[in-house]
Amino acid sequence: MSDPFLPYGRQSLDEADIAAVVEVLHSDFLTQGPAVPRFEKAVAGWCGARHGIALANGTATLHCAAKALGLGHGDRLWTSPITFVASANAGRYCGAKIDFVDIDPATALMCPERLEAKLVQAEKDGTLPKIVVPVHFAGQSCDMPRLHALGQKYGFKILEDAAHALGGEFLGERIGNAKWSDAVSHSFHPVKIITSGEGGMITTNDDELAWRIATLRTHGITREPDRMQGESHGPWYYQQLELGFNYRLTDLQAALGASQMGKLEAFARRRRELADLYDRELAGLPLRPLARDPRGISGWHLYMIVLDLDAIRPRTRRQVFESLRAQGLGVNVHYIPVHLQPDYARLGFESGMFPEAERYYEACITLPLFPAMTDADVTRVRAALEQALAA
Ligand SMILES: *Cc1c(COP(=O)(O)O)cnc(C)c1O
Repeated sequence: MSDPFLPYGRQSLDEADIAAVVEVLHSDFLTQGPAVPRFEKAVAGWCGARHGIALANGTATLHCAAKALGLGHGDRLWTSPITFVASANAGRYCGAKIDFVDIDPATALMCPERLEAKLVQAEKDGTLPKIVVPVHFAGQSCDMPRLHALGQKYGFKILEDAAHALGGEFLGERIGNAKWSDAVSHSFHPVKIITSGEGGMITTNDDELAWRIATLRTHGITREPDRMQGESHGPWYYQQLELGFNYRLTDLQAALGASQMGKLEAFARRRRELADLYDRELAGLPLRPLARDPRGISGWHLYMIVLDLDAIRPRTRRQVFESLRAQGLGVNVHYIPVHLQPDYARLGFESGMFPEAERYYEACITLPLFPAMTDADVTRVRAALEQALAA
């Protein structure tokens, strides 16, 4: 008898989540109703940020926040090459040029020393970025006070990509509080920490930025007379102030998200336990987990291993990966460096430009991690790894 397939990530829904969605179906509002502000308050309140603005997905949050932060044609956005393509694509939607800062191989986070060196050079060349997007990869926070200090010195805005990190902390405070940045982007795709089906949110402490993102979410339209040019024509009147989008979240999704928020603490705790168990179970194998910054607690969206390619020779990462898949484990690879995508090669990027990211990509494997996993599942992953690595 073979064990069931174990995916790398999966949502955890219960009857209360389902009831919350059904309740919306029985109500007057399927969209633009009360569930959206309720969800916004729940996430912003958890994070300790003044505003939460819910959008259709995480990608939309990055796009709207970048635009609201003033990113436009000819401007520059820098991010990590080890991220989902959306972190970089958001800048391209605004007409900006994209560049990357190589990672610290220990953590796979954007390397602050490399960022600083690149800023020094960019200042000389007149190519400083308008926005830097640090990605809290796998759930671990970047060194935000340090990035904030660089932002002050070199005049860039900071848009945190926290799609992996809800439920995590840094320096004793919750990721998403936007204390060291202009805005924080969250995603509620089903593989992430909590889900609304599709969905995303910006958390920020900047009142004007929050208003602008909320306006961009609905076509750039306002119904507030104070914000209009000239006089309102009457109660029906609205004005489009700039070119926005329809990036709204539905009330069905928001109700699911708000219900899931009630379980965030338990989800985060279980993810942490499983990650600790993985660390213990995998000790002694020819691989390493990503280094943990003792100043923070990861949100643990992903549990990554980096194979010691020299030690496992003649086995390759691909063989290990295929063996794990054949043993019913939905392992994955996060991420293919963004600059190696054909659509980025077209912009002039090529292999060799971000060598640490490329080396990391050659050796990494994402193991299954989600709150409903049992301790026995972790033991099973260890046994499968041992088999995959056996000469
Ligand atoms: C998932 C993800 C996004 C995009 O979120 P969607 O909700 O899928 O649009 C952005 N950045 C990172 C790092 C992600 O993992």
